[in-house]
Amino acid sequence: MEKQQQMKHAVQRCIDAQKDELHSLSQDIWSNPELAGNETQAHDRLVRFFSRDDTWTVDSHYKLPTAFRAVWDLVGGRRRALNVGFLCEYDALPRIGHACGHNLIAEVGAAAALGLKAALENQNELPEPVKITVLGTPAEEAIGGKIDLINAGAFAGMDLVFMAHPAQEDAPYLPTVALDEVIVKYYGKASHASAYPWEGLNALDAAVLAYNNLSALRQQLKPEWRLHGIIKHGGEKPNIIPAYTELEYYLRTPLVKDLCDLKAKAEACFRAAAVATGCRVEIIYPYNCYYDILPNATLANLFKNNGEALGIQFPQQPNNFSGSTDFGNVSYVVPGIHPFFYICTEAVNHTEEYAAAAGAEKAQLFTLRTAKALAMTAVDVVCCPDLLRKVREDFSHAKLKQGKHLEGLDKSLTAP
Ligand SMILES: [Zn+2]
Ligand SMILES: [Zn+2]
Repeated sequence: MEKQQQMKHAVQRCIDAQKDELHSLSQDIWSNPELAGNETQAHDRLVRFFSRDDTWTVDSHYKLPTAFRAVWDLVGGRRRALNVGFLCEYDALPRIGHACGHNLIAEVGAAAALGLKAALENQNELPEPVKITVLGTPAEEAIGGKIDLINAGAFAGMDLVFMAHPAQEDAPYLPTVALDEVIVKYYGKASHASAYPWEGLNALDAAVLAYNNLSALRQQLKPEWRLHGIIKHGGEKPNIIPAYTELEYYLRTPLVKDLCDLKAKAEACFRAAAVATGCRVEIIYPYNCYYDILPNATLANLFKNNGEALGIQFPQQPNNFSGSTDFGNVSYVVPGIHPFFYICTEAVNHTEEYAAAAGAEKAQLFTLRTAKALAMTAVDVVCCPDLLRKVREDFSHAKLKQGKHLEGLDKSLTAP
């Protein structure tokens, strides 16, 4: 127990000692916001951050152009080591910059990894050797970079995975919702809208009927299910019967297993509009489907205890959060947690005010405190085989509960 406490103190000392470098890391990312998939400068900054210490082995373009991997492994592959992962996000939003605070996610991941490394150095009496893997995971806001990384095998061999996301309050676990995006294209036939309307097939009517079908459907959906969309293309000119229209919708359910049902209902609405108007319809799911986050009670409780020891006061009844994250998919392949943390603002994510807060000096205390709690949680697990066993049991049970419903979903669920 005493050794564990010493290791936790080493985590805190290390993060405190490097707070200026860590702050400057997230400041540099914040002051130069880059969109999903184009995070070249943020990526390069993080790669430089880990490359300055040659005990980290850095793959600077790991499986995706703006992803990276940094590994600290004293055993050097000679023996099996417990592989503890930390994730860094660093993409921003169009026009409003780092309004989701992903610059702070990068800082938390980097700080927690440094903290755990400091705790592990010169430790010869651990139950099993430990290595640390930091993954830079791009494009969370648009296409789900973590899902591409899962499919490319980037999470294979990882035993635990940690990250934390800025939000409105501190919470060891908040349920997020599964999400799929659908694009619907209607193909009709153009004609003069006044002279020969009977010659046309009106693709805008199809889009409007679909919109209304979905609005009527909403009444019959479970309260937590969401569908919301826009007409992206609505025609060219009032005197031309629109030959082509396009809708874009997000479909969300608390559990990924329910997404199939919602998709089937929504598709019936899209097709019905095509039948009614004589248009042809194309229904496309262009991106990765984001899953809900599987809870891991053991890791969440450890994080809570460590956070409280550092002064975090977790609300008894956290607010609902109906956002989605590609960490959900990760939680189905590796046991892990994705706590949320307060950054000293009442603003909500995806607003200009939140972007300002994510770059403010006063967010640092909360950011680094969360990083310490994550690394201390990793210390608990690497020091105690019983806890590791419980973490793995939680993971298997949570997955089993979903498992029988998962067939028919895309392949990333069954990836290694
Ligand atoms: Zn976001
Ligand atoms: Zn985010």
